[in-house]
Amino acid sequence: MVDVLVIGGGNAALCAALMAREAGASVLMLEAAPLAWRGGNSQHTRNLRCMHDAPQDVLAEAYPEEEFWQDLLKVTGGKTDEALARLTVRASATCRPWMRRHGVHFQPPLSGALHVARTNAFFMGGGKALVNAYYRSAQALGVRVRYDTPVDRIELDGDRFVAAHAGGERFTARACVLAAGGFESNREWLREAWGQNARGEWPADNFLIRGTRFNTGVLLKQMIAAGADAIGDATQAHMVAIDARAPLYDGGICTRLDSVSLGVMVNREAERFYDEGEDFWPKRYAIWGRLVAQQPGQIGYSIIDAKAIGRFMPPVFEGTQADSLAELAQRLGLDVERFVQTLAAYNAACRVGSFDHTRLDDCHTAGLLPAKTHWALPIDTPPFHGYALRPGVTFTYLGLKVDASAAVHFGGRPSANLFVAGEMMAGNVLGQGYTAGVGMSIGTAFGRIAGTVAARAAQSQTSKGGQHAAA
Ligand SMILES: Cc1cc2nc3c(=O)[nH]c(=O)nc-3n(C[C@H](O)[C@H](O)[C@H](O)COP(=O)(O)OP(=O)(O)OC[C@H]3O[C@@H](n4cnc5c(N)ncnc54)[C@H](O)[C@@H]3O)c2cc1C
Repeated sequence: MVDVLVIGGGNAALCAALMAREAGASVLMLEAAPLAWRGGNSQHTRNLRCMHDAPQDVLAEAYPEEEFWQDLLKVTGGKTDEALARLTVRASATCRPWMRRHGVHFQPPLSGALHVARTNAFFMGGGKALVNAYYRSAQALGVRVRYDTPVDRIELDGDRFVAAHAGGERFTARACVLAAGGFESNREWLREAWGQNARGEWPADNFLIRGTRFNTGVLLKQMIAAGADAIGDATQAHMVAIDARAPLYDGGICTRLDSVSLGVMVNREAERFYDEGEDFWPKRYAIWGRLVAQQPGQIGYSIIDAKAIGRFMPPVFEGTQADSLAELAQRLGLDVERFVQTLAAYNAACRVGSFDHTRLDDCHTAGLLPAKTHWALPIDTPPFHGYALRPGVTFTYLGLKVDASAAVHFGGRPSANLFVAGEMMAGNVLGQGYTAGVGMSIGTAFGRIAGTVAARAAQSQTSKGGQHAAA
């Protein structure tokens, strides 16, 4: 029997597998995806958020524990477990040498990287290179990996893990780490969670999934049904407004559009619906998916003029372009008269001061609802550009409740041999909101803990077994 079974094949699973193996356990990983698609959402990532008290290799200045914690507190609106959040923050200060030992390389951020040079360490080659490095290291250490093996059921004895079942096969182990992601790729579950709106629409039917198609939440659902303690709300997720032409799955980061704060956003009715200049884009990009999800038809349009070009990361796909606002509306399929009125009202309300996209400047609107509170410049310089945007789900926050040992809990009691890491428990730290790079900080911290504790749990069973045999 294997010591530690790890279910999943992304960052959290790999961190757990590597740590368990380093602790002397035999390890088997079961990854739902085929080899070519291994690595879950982690393959799409670029960085992790790291606490540091002084400049370090790729990280500028300092980002102390208290500031990281305050950032988390702010974005979650207090829906976070302080002890587990601080554990994540502290772990982020010490994980990089270990990551490097397993082949991960870091690089300074490229321009247009959401202004996170101080707070986030970027992976050379992105998340794909990170997961490939971890798989190589795991293989070299003797971790066994089975691809194309979606686990459909966990067999429990009370709160103890007994075996995992996948397509008729049964995998027993002394301890298990669940790291199978959220349920963002389960379209029926998203539909059920978001329900039907007052317009009779099922908003989730228009969501795009930014990452893997394999995170269907089968085990999350089964564990909750089996009595595991859950945390979080099924409608809470990291959701970005992405190019409406993106594929249903795995569009990754190149479908994101960073022009919103430089112009206005209108809905299908050609009406504005939120303050595009509320705060810096890195602090706001993850709310726009939800905002667009609340609009009719779950679609929005980012409208900018020639002045904005060069001030945001150029999108991979060209938008719609026109020499007049009326023509742009027509090309986007919007009501021309209403659109022109909306833009005229906005332009007239702009109180232009000294435009500066690197600070919360004094360019704002007056007497307009909703207001645009910063970077409000009239949209008056052709050519005009429009981008249709849809809600893009990055990952869901509903998860399993844990303590500092990453143990799955049943009725408030920790399981002795079942642990969980990554998106499957990120809701303990992220009740809502997001701050860039914290998904990988959580997965790395809890993946490493879960692997270590699972190895220990397996070893204690072996030694108990040995004592029984001797007795
Ligand atoms: C486009 C994009 C960009 C992102 N960028 C960043 C970033 O720069 N920084 C950051 O911190 N976060 C980022 N995130 C979020 C980040 O991807 C996640 O927080 C993190 O990768 C979660 O790691 P994980 O191991 O829990 O999940 P995943 O990496 O998604 O891994 C889950 C794994 O479980 C497998 N699996 C699922 N179900 C089963 C099953 N039943 N049986 C067996 N295996 C199963 C999947 O195939 C997959 O391998 C991004 C996400 C996306 C989609």
